[in-house]
Amino acid sequence: MKIVLIGIQGSGKSTQGNLLAEKLKVPYLSTGHIFREIAKEHTPMGRYIKEIMNSGYLIPDEKTLEIVSDYLSRPEYQKGYILDGFPRTKVQAESFKNGIDAVLYIKVLDEEAIRRLSLRRDNREDEAPRALKKRIESFHKFTIPVLEYYKEKGKLHEINGERTIEEIHRDICGILGVASNGQ
Ligand code: AMP
Repeated sequence: MKIVLIGIQGSGKSTQGNLLAEKLKVPYLSTGHIFREIAKEHTPMGRYIKEIMNSGYLIPDEKTLEIVSDYLSRPEYQKGYILDGFPRTKVQAESFKNGIDAVLYIKVLDEEAIRRLSLRRDNREDEAPRALKKRIESFHKFTIPVLEYYKEKGKLHEINGERTIEEIHRDICGILGVASNGQ
């Protein structure tokens, strides 16, 4: 099964993505995680990615598409995957022809996401208030059109993310027609 997870930072999508990957026995791939790893490298590319991320902007589509298609061409992704954080722009969605089965949008209000992130202890540089504001703006500007794109294709499922981890997981499993954990 090929699943795309979409949600603002703080929506809990990585928690849900990992639970689902375990359930479906497919790999979980987060573009945010990939970019954070590249940003640690002391190379021109590492510094470039770090600067963009810390300012709260998106990595250019061309670079993102190149990295994602490189990962997804590997053997372990052939049976399926959970993709977190991609596609994030309409250009990425239109260029990505990989036969996605479902797009899950975990919806939380901006204020709730900000509240959750302010409670996190591992303060990340890209979660500083100004970068966070920019990221939320980027989400509305670039990612809402991605939701519309998949809605037109009949693949979009909207999930209320302001509930417990278990409730959300159960809801997602119901949508995908698989038994949820612990049942
Ligand atoms: P995330 O952890 O998914 O919130 O991603 C962290 C950061 O990585 C984002 O703020 C972007 O700078 C970058 N990023 C992640 N995924 C993408 C993407 N699909 N397109 C462009 N930039 C991305």
